[in-house]
Amino acid sequence: MPTVETVGGPIDVEELGRTLIHEHFRTTDEGVRHQFPHLYDEDGEWEAALADAKAVKGHGIRTVVEPSALFLHRDASFSKRVADEAAIQIVLATGIYTYDHLPQALANRDEDALAAIFVHEIEEGIQDTGIKPAFIKCAADEPGITPNVERIHRAAARASNQTGKPIMAHSRPASGTGPEQMRIFAEEGVDPSRVQIAHTGDSDDLDYIERLLETGCWIGMDRYGLDIFLPTDNRNRTLLALLERGYADRMFISQDYCSTIDWFPLEVQDYLKANEVPDWSMTFLFESVIPTLKERGMTDDQLDQMMVENPKRWLGG
Ligand SMILES: [Zn+2]
Repeated sequence: MPTVETVGGPIDVEELGRTLIHEHFRTTDEGVRHQFPHLYDEDGEWEAALADAKAVKGHGIRTVVEPSALFLHRDASFSKRVADEAAIQIVLATGIYTYDHLPQALANRDEDALAAIFVHEIEEGIQDTGIKPAFIKCAADEPGITPNVERIHRAAARASNQTGKPIMAHSRPASGTGPEQMRIFAEEGVDPSRVQIAHTGDSDDLDYIERLLETGCWIGMDRYGLDIFLPTDNRNRTLLALLERGYADRMFISQDYCSTIDWFPLEVQDYLKANEVPDWSMTFLFESVIPTLKERGMTDDQLDQMMVENPKRWLGG
């Protein structure tokens, strides 16, 4: 029976249970917070993370996959505290989240050197905690496949090939990055069924999505509530059309919610959450999206496929 690494150690895939495939209990910039800690409210961050973890547990979630990486302030000790306190399982990644920029310490290392960093974490653990990542994260966004982005994708691919760990690639459908990312993985010989192209649900272009699915990857319909990228009704219509075309066994649903996010000053963040993305939360799926999808024809089997079976297959291989 395949196992999956969690912050509490390896578990049998069958123990994953109902899983949110893409949520963040804290998203901040580790460099900024290390240098300017007065900008951050540690106690508030902890309370927000714990409240969200307890809330999703209340909706029957046993596992949250937290695809944080370098530049998203991945912190294995923090995630473990959240998991322990809320009695849920959290699955972490190795990898780099950047749309282009790399510090000199990484800009001057080639694909294999970057891959070795990921492999080291997969074998030895993250940040001297002994907690091991279950997958590899990389990203492409508006700047597209820049030389740095390509190098990180090739490094992720090589680390995946060496360790058998799956890949999650942040994508930007509006820039058409998904097929380009899959092209790089194919060139590196990665089995496409080990790759998840995150944020595919930011598009309601069924041609784009089916073209991507034809490469053999998984897709993340994972930003429910982020109306700034695509409103909920468009997300629902797209998901239902894909279910009708038989893709329940290729998709994940999630919210990419961040219990804390430092991309804007705190007061601006509060304004944006209230006005631009009022529905965005770690429980929006349960409170609104899933009931609506069920009313419009999604079956319990399809929901279980997306939230229970697919996580097992993507993470467990
Ligand atoms: Zn994310």
